[in-house]
Amino acid sequence: MTFFRSRKINVIVFPPFTWPLLALLVLCALAVALGFFPAGTPVWLYYGSPLKGITVALDPGHGGIDSGAHFESSMLEKDIVLEIGLELRRLLEQAGARVMLTREKDEDLSRHCPDLSLPRHRRDVRGRVILINNSGANLAVSLHLNSIYDSSVRGAIAFYAGGNPENKRLAEAIQKNMNPLFLADAKEGQLVHQQAQESNAFYILNETKMPAVLLEAAFMTSPDDRALLKSESFRKKIARAVFMGIVEYVFGKPDEVTETPGN
Ligand SMILES: [Zn+2]
Repeated sequence: MTFFRSRKINVIVFPPFTWPLLALLVLCALAVALGFFPAGTPVWLYYGSPLKGITVALDPGHGGIDSGAHFESSMLEKDIVLEIGLELRRLLEQAGARVMLTREKDEDLSRHCPDLSLPRHRRDVRGRVILINNSGANLAVSLHLNSIYDSSVRGAIAFYAGGNPENKRLAEAIQKNMNPLFLADAKEGQLVHQQAQESNAFYILNETKMPAVLLEAAFMTSPDDRALLKSESFRKKIARAVFMGIVEYVFGKPDEVTETPGN
């Protein structure tokens, strides 16, 4: 996408003026027609570095001894969410953001928690919170994959803690961009989650100091979601959807948030 950078446009827009500009417009139209930009995305967001000055903390869940949800031994949550996290970092950095990843390889993070009296799992989660809170991030996204007894249940759920309306705004922006990935593939009668959900059950959401979302990006227990997750292009689509959610969150106006009474 670098060809949209304003510096390069300046180089090609100067005399002869008309043809390069026309060519650029045709290229933009082609890009939109080919689905290069998700529907409704203002193309100007792709100019330059729209996320300059923003720091994002990304937390690929699990790692090391903890595989998270898995299907047989071939599909492990810890591997898939790491891959999505690395791709998401690439997109965010390309847009000018600074990114802190809690892990860049297959490892658990318990060593970052100084309280050795706690079990490894709790030290791992606390270690993540310490890393995120020390990163100076403006927002945080923890990446996971879901599992449930009912294999027909599909889709993404962006969880957020109650209390801070910014949590909900971030969760809804990410959820909105995730939904089309599953609705496009949904079969008759399938339950596809489409709503961000408030929950105070996640330590990581309760303890992080900035707007934060825990994204369950798909259901490992659904054969249909698993079939999608196997494809590298789908995993990239997840990263792109979260990226677009973050962009929309950053550029959204807080006064556009509407609170439903009792929700
Ligand atoms: Zn998980």
